[in-house]
Amino acid sequence: MTSLDKRVENFAHGKTVFSAFFAEDFIHIAYTQYSMGMKKSFDGWLAMQRDMRPITRVKAHNVAEDDIKSLAREIKSHLKNNLSNFGGICLVAPGPFDTIKRQDENYGKISRFAPSGWKNQNIIKLLKEALSSHTKGLDKRALFLLFNGPGAAAQGHYYATENRDEIDFQLNTPKLRGNYFHIIVDDLVHAALITRGKILHGKSTLNVGHHAVLPIGEDIPPKCPIHPQRPCLNRFVSMATLLERFHVERFEDITPLKIDQDIYYKIVHETAHYVAQMAANVSLTTTPRRIVLGGRIAKLDGFDGYFRKAFGALLRTSEAGILYPGYEDLKNLNTMIEKQIDVDCGVFGGLDLIVDKLNETGPSDNVIYLQFRSKRS
Ligand SMILES: [Zn+2]
Repeated sequence: MTSLDKRVENFAHGKTVFSAFFAEDFIHIAYTQYSMGMKKSFDGWLAMQRDMRPITRVKAHNVAEDDIKSLAREIKSHLKNNLSNFGGICLVAPGPFDTIKRQDENYGKISRFAPSGWKNQNIIKLLKEALSSHTKGLDKRALFLLFNGPGAAAQGHYYATENRDEIDFQLNTPKLRGNYFHIIVDDLVHAALITRGKILHGKSTLNVGHHAVLPIGEDIPPKCPIHPQRPCLNRFVSMATLLERFHVERFEDITPLKIDQDIYYKIVHETAHYVAQMAANVSLTTTPRRIVLGGRIAKLDGFDGYFRKAFGALLRTSEAGILYPGYEDLKNLNTMIEKQIDVDCGVFGGLDLIVDKLNETGPSDNVIYLQFRSKRS
């Protein structure tokens, strides 16, 4: 069957597809009416961005079952209880997940390493049950996808800031646009790599939180609970260790107004330096054209400046202090390194993924591994 045939018989044409991003306090839901081959052009993407707003926000309960029920209610209400118009959904959920194979009977199941209200829950099963109750017409072909937060944020930011005409969807075409590295510094450090316009997939996405980093200053490497022999990045930079190391009670208190200015800038400087060590290692391996910084810690005032400085210093050569020769993008770190846009890019990234999947341009498996939610206190 050719891809054209697949599109001709695409069941989702004209139906509504959804994305749901489970954030700390709210479930962010976006939807659009899918049409075959949509977003194959830049104009199509702009139109899609228009269609995708407004986003619905539902107060999160932080318990998978409650959240999924709230989501189902929202979907049903949007479709006026007529689920024959439901084309599918991408759930951007806190992982890690038991499997990334959609054919596997455990597909949809969140592993025991997930946040407390989500452990061992099969959220796709829960959603199917919640959608089916008291309604008719849920199409068996409706697409249910799982995705991780960092990957969805990277995808959303990328497509919102790139010209889609220039994104390469085929291997070995002249339109290769280079790699793109998205870092989230939040409860833990997460990352996603986009290469040739697509998220790089694997059983685990870039597990950068367990990259070994060198302690700076007086720091003694705290042991990683998973790798006692390694000074893992998460042990210096995760939100919990940050509070512990600097004796701050709540993350919200880390501002120059609430704590001593010297301490504040020490926190930002050191955190940026550790993340930059990891980013420099990844950059030497993958030569990203752009690096994006997202997450609550990366949003702290001064973080991106310190990050650029540390990143540049780590890649400078000994002769003449020039940056890694031949890596052109390093010449202007101000444009190469940017901040993540709109906090909603994760929910748009999820929508983007489901549309790509329906267009058969998306990856064959979707990856789920990283946890992307703060621990409940
Ligand atoms: Zn580790």
